[in-house]
Amino acid sequence: MSSIDQLIANTIREDVRAIGSYHVPDASGYIKLDAMENPYQLPEALRLELGARLADAALNRYPVASYRTVKDKIRERMGVPAGYDVLLGNGSDELISIMATAVARQDRRAVVMAPVPGFVMFYRSAQFAGADFVGVPLKPDFSLDREAMLAAIEKHKPSLVFLAYPNNPTGNLFDADDMEALIRALGEDGIAVVDEAYQPFAQQSFMGRLPEFPNLVVMRTLSKLGLAGIRLGYLSGHAALLEQFEKVRPPYNVNVLTQVAAEFALDHIAILDRQAESINAERARLAAALAALPGVEVFPSAANFISLRVPDADRTCARLHAEKVLIKNLSKMHALLANCIRVTVSTPEENDQFLTALKAALK
Ligand SMILES: *Cc1c(COP(=O)(O)O)cnc(C)c1O
Repeated sequence: MSSIDQLIANTIREDVRAIGSYHVPDASGYIKLDAMENPYQLPEALRLELGARLADAALNRYPVASYRTVKDKIRERMGVPAGYDVLLGNGSDELISIMATAVARQDRRAVVMAPVPGFVMFYRSAQFAGADFVGVPLKPDFSLDREAMLAAIEKHKPSLVFLAYPNNPTGNLFDADDMEALIRALGEDGIAVVDEAYQPFAQQSFMGRLPEFPNLVVMRTLSKLGLAGIRLGYLSGHAALLEQFEKVRPPYNVNVLTQVAAEFALDHIAILDRQAESINAERARLAAALAALPGVEVFPSAANFISLRVPDADRTCARLHAEKVLIKNLSKMHALLANCIRVTVSTPEENDQFLTALKAALK
């Protein structure tokens, strides 16, 4: 063994060594439909204006620690109920990890729970924080298994339960009454995190319902709305609870460029909302075209992606890849996702290119 291998074996924890590296494929030259990005940029005039604002940002200074302006804009524009606080993350990925860290107590193993298949960061963050992750399978139609979730809550007493609304990678909205039953069952023993990363495409939200449930927090991100590159997530909930998470947050986790860009985008939120509307219209068109293909099963989506089942997902993905179209093969993620693939809804042109390539791939 070389000395660097020995060093790694002696220092890095075994469960980290055992994980394969997170592989992000090189997308240059590809139609990129694998990461739920908004295909549109801000209009040119606005980009120039943003450039000027960024030029004025004080890069020599640490960010203003309170993040007051951007938080106020989020409160105003995103329907945060009066009196509820906002916590900012370097993407909502960081918020997930902050929450997992905050609950991973030392005196007994804490449990983090989520329905599966779900967002991989729920599981990973729990693991890295030193908590146990319990995944409760969805039903085959991807709806919540309310009874199984209630039984798992009773048995494992999770400190944190993640519910993605809509869910990734399946795309559907869970039944709101089922969610309410779970949030109530957690009561004073567990925090329910409703992850609304896809809220701009869903028109459904638990944000306005925060006052009904003291143990509820609602998490969102600007990523899927069209600003994946700036990395800004936010979490809303009872101020006393967020104050605890604040202690775990690295003090200057959101950088000044992100802060300026986010404030600018929030001032022009109507443009992003219009982009989301056109993506929703394309989602309906794409879903209908996919449903008309023989051998294809399309799952309902309230997000900016569509999940579908094809006869042979590995073959379909390989063929699409050869045609320079990147999508996500979900087959290996979970037994419920056998032969499923996930495609981001993009511009009409890219959606057509995908449809053409898919039709050829299915032949
Ligand atoms: C994409 C996604 C996120 C991550 O968002 P970032 O803010 O970009 O870190 C969180 N939750 C779900 C369910 C997602 O699909």
